[in-house]
Amino acid sequence: MVKPRLILVLGDQLSQGLSALRAGDKSRDIVVMAEVMAEGSYVRHHPQKIVLVLSAMRHFAAELQAQGWQVAYTRLDDPDNSQSIGGELLRHAAVHGATEVLATRPGEWRLIAALNDLPLTVSQHPDDRFLCSDAEFATWAKGRKQLRMEWFYRDMRRKTGLLMQGDDPAGGQWNFDHDNRKPARADLLRPRPPRFAPDAVTAAVIALVRDRFADHFGGLDGFGWATTRPEAQQALDHFITHALPRFGDEQDAMLQDDPTLSHALISPYLNIGLLGWHEVCKAAEDAWRAGRAPLNAVEGFVRQIIGWREFIRGIYFLEGPDYTTRNALGAQRALPPLFWGAKTQMACLSQAVGQTRDLAYAHHIQRLMVTGNFAMLAGVNPAEVHDWYLSVYIDAFEWVEAPNTIGMSQFADGGVVGSKPYAASGAYIDRMSDYCAGCAYRVKDKTGAKACPFNLLYWDFLLRHRDRFAKNPRMAQMYRTWDKMDATRRDTVLTEAADFLRRLDAGETV
Ligand code: FAD
Ligand code: SF4
Repeated sequence: MVKPRLILVLGDQLSQGLSALRAGDKSRDIVVMAEVMAEGSYVRHHPQKIVLVLSAMRHFAAELQAQGWQVAYTRLDDPDNSQSIGGELLRHAAVHGATEVLATRPGEWRLIAALNDLPLTVSQHPDDRFLCSDAEFATWAKGRKQLRMEWFYRDMRRKTGLLMQGDDPAGGQWNFDHDNRKPARADLLRPRPPRFAPDAVTAAVIALVRDRFADHFGGLDGFGWATTRPEAQQALDHFITHALPRFGDEQDAMLQDDPTLSHALISPYLNIGLLGWHEVCKAAEDAWRAGRAPLNAVEGFVRQIIGWREFIRGIYFLEGPDYTTRNALGAQRALPPLFWGAKTQMACLSQAVGQTRDLAYAHHIQRLMVTGNFAMLAGVNPAEVHDWYLSVYIDAFEWVEAPNTIGMSQFADGGVVGSKPYAASGAYIDRMSDYCAGCAYRVKDKTGAKACPFNLLYWDFLLRHRDRFAKNPRMAQMYRTWDKMDATRRDTVLTEAADFLRRLDAGETV
């Protein structure tokens, strides 16, 4: 008799066309899916993320069974659960007399290595749910002095034909960002993202997660994420119909009472495989062609998916397993407790961290220009910042989180993802948000007891790294501004910044 093979399906591989499933044979092979503590707790994931992944896994396993697959499914509380992916593969291999495993390559170096180390024959098939393969990205990157998303994106537009008119970009431009990124006003008519009432499967998982992960940061009340493909498709439709038209304008805006604005909230579904890049881009393009959404919004959205998302993935696999340990700026400060919800008087940080705790979600600019900007200006160790982002967001998977955090937000890769650090003073946050009006600090104050800490830390950061950045043509102007400043004022800024950091380190409420 032919031995069965095990087909591994991980919690972020919940796609019908998965390469490992395509390589398998329903009449012979056994699909292995396992809920294990090792994956739930190697960083302290937000409870909503654990619920999303486990519930979506249970739903997906049921779909596979209905299609005739034999599924060996381990629940988190099964008494025989070895609580690791490798352990479950070995256990099922022994039970079924299998020696071979078909896998789709995981999106994380840690798991790739774990599978390679197993005493079984494991074939890791490429994860072809992405537009750009590792080999294609490596070819694109080869010989370039700098890897810039914009050039990569244009190639992806040409490759897909999305928003193209012949060889030219639709509307005559590749990028419509000058029409985007405006501040937003509170608007009671702005549609809210859809929420999906937990079914019996999700309700059981919520109870389990409450019990097992009670000490993880984040709430579970009102869990309303989609956990099946039809629900994820509804979420996509809702975005395309109601929010996409304003996506471009409101992409960078931040509002106290509107944590999601016109964002898509589809990253968790893309990242676990319930949606694919092509269908979401196609839906957006169709909306533009039908006159239901303007080109600036649609181009901006498509760029996030086939530009940024694919570029970020390419960087993760190009740069190798040590990427997450990079610390080009030598930042050593411990992550301040305010990131875990300790009280802060800074309204912007309080909002970004508070909504992260409640929703497992913050949009890009909150991640980049509030929490990320603060951590970089304060000189927080990027490894700790990386652990935090991987822990607290519903969509956090290392291949996408790490280059965004280590590269884009902390400049800890020394300029692989971005050509300059995303450093900004309070003026940027004030321009793009309504946070400052309700803050204990005054954004217009550059020094003094009420001075916005971003204003102090911004200069402190630039001065700490003057040797590295002063020659960067996009930053030279800031150093000229500093040099022209009155000497007493410069002393005051640096003294007050040092005092702020001392209080932060001492655990005082800042
Ligand atoms: P929208 O703003 O509506 O954008 C649409 C889609 O574009 C997103 O769903 C996402 O799939 C894609 N996208 C947009 N920007 C990026 C980007 N920079 N990288 C990759 N995809 C992008 N995204 C994750 O999916 N997982 C993460 O763990 C993650 N960590 C991040 C950490 C930091 C420090 C920063 C600055 C960004 C991070 N991002 C991450 C990127 C981005 O913030 C999220 O993709 C986005 O906020 C998800 O919300 P949305 O679906 O409403 O996105
Ligand atoms: Fe944030 Fe400064 Fe504005 Fe306060 S004043 S909300 S600390 S940017």
